[in-house]
Amino acid sequence: MGSDSLPSTLTSTKPTPIPTNELDEEHDHDDSPSTAALLSFNTDSSSSSEPLSTSNNKPLFIVLILVTCISLSVASAFAYLFFSSRSPSSSSTTTASSATSSASASPSPSPIPLPSVSHARPLTKLNRPKVILISSDGFRFGYQFKTPTPNIARLIANGTEAETGLIPVFPSLTFPNHYSIATGLYPAYHGIVNNHFLDPHSGDAFYMGAIDPKWWLGEPLWETVVKNGLNAATYFWPGTQVHKGPWNCPLNFCRHYNSSVPFEDRVDAVLSYFDLPSDEIPDFMTLYFEDPDHQGHKVGADDPQITEAVSRIDRMIGRLIFGLEQRGIFDDVTIIMVGDHGMVTTCDKKLIFLDDLAPWINIPDNWVISHTPLLAIMPPSGYSPSDVVAKMNQGLSSGKVENGRYLKVYLKEDLPSRLHYSASDRIPPIIGLLEEGFKVKQKRSKNKECGGSHGYDNEFFSMRSIFIGHGPQFARGRKIPSFENVQIYNLVTFILNIKGAPNNGSASFAKDVLLSAA
Ligand SMILES: [Zn+2]
Repeated sequence: MGSDSLPSTLTSTKPTPIPTNELDEEHDHDDSPSTAALLSFNTDSSSSSEPLSTSNNKPLFIVLILVTCISLSVASAFAYLFFSSRSPSSSSTTTASSATSSASASPSPSPIPLPSVSHARPLTKLNRPKVILISSDGFRFGYQFKTPTPNIARLIANGTEAETGLIPVFPSLTFPNHYSIATGLYPAYHGIVNNHFLDPHSGDAFYMGAIDPKWWLGEPLWETVVKNGLNAATYFWPGTQVHKGPWNCPLNFCRHYNSSVPFEDRVDAVLSYFDLPSDEIPDFMTLYFEDPDHQGHKVGADDPQITEAVSRIDRMIGRLIFGLEQRGIFDDVTIIMVGDHGMVTTCDKKLIFLDDLAPWINIPDNWVISHTPLLAIMPPSGYSPSDVVAKMNQGLSSGKVENGRYLKVYLKEDLPSRLHYSASDRIPPIIGLLEEGFKVKQKRSKNKECGGSHGYDNEFFSMRSIFIGHGPQFARGRKIPSFENVQIYNLVTFILNIKGAPNNGSASFAKDVLLSAA
């Protein structure tokens, strides 16, 4: 595969302007009138008392002040309840056909209620903040309720949790999402737009083991950490084996991916870093588990195998907590536990066959970069993508194509803007959005298609994963609204007190979520 020299195509692929979520922050303010309305109601009531205050009726004035204070408190309580309970509404599922109209229905952000305490707890044994970023692949939000998960529950009880889950980026696939968590960038900007895709200029194919830096844009956390003069150690994470800037995947601190390494060994290796001399302890560590994604694909989201896999992940968290406690540093170390996406059960009656579109347009297999759940099509030159889209949608909406109404096809620039999925020439010109649980196949076959899948619209609740932050800068027992995983990069740089690279996260998010320095 590719050479180490950066190809000229990189410049055309490289997304220079990085839109941040500052606009989203403005949405915060857009949302805030609801709060302001509640407050202004009280302000108005107090201002209406102004003329009275000019009189010398002091007892009445004091009563009015008391009433105002009480009503302000009640209004604040209502505002809190309102905002802390409204996030689930943003997760309502959307049909593929209505996805167009939901372009403005961005799944985030909701205002973040203030913590009950504001200051971070001081370190007691370590001399610097340490962050362990854990990914449990395909840990769908809600899996934690399938079975007792006492160790995850302990992190939640003593930490900060996204109450209705962590929102993945679109497409809700493993590589795009892990690299969005690591870079704070949407896939169109970090370049890993799918688990498999083509470089439109060279024709080279990206595959999940590819470590040529030309594919991996942006600045991942391990690079940022080293750039700031700190140490990083990675126990698996997509992109960690790629040499970027000062990060050269150092021996013993950058494990080469091997799915057969027992989970226990991974946890023990991370724990062993804390036995190093204090100035050699990595400041940032990744820890990755393939489960329960592995089981989810095989048996769907609702099988007892998932329950066992979740229980095993919980035991690994327990092993980590125990090891940190033995070293007397559990409360000093920051643990951020996430998943990359959720999972939904798929079965063979929920299929759409591209060959069924033949009366409208022939879509040969070699036009299709990926079939499902992300349908990505690149017609050869000579075909008009907009013509292909029109004919496909004509067939799909005709009522004559089996399950056709559960797929809608778009020119990528016409996708809902909330998906942030157009600003890269690695994204093929035609993208299909599927209804939850449906799959696209080229042609009919006798293969059974029961299992689980992900990669769908990130607005589907089933695609959500978990976010738990535990450590000195996370308030204990705090719930925050769901948010997109591009915010995590800024959380980590804020905790480590280092300068991060430009990204799609909002500048204020970390300040809103984390406790300020003690
Ligand atoms: Zn995954």
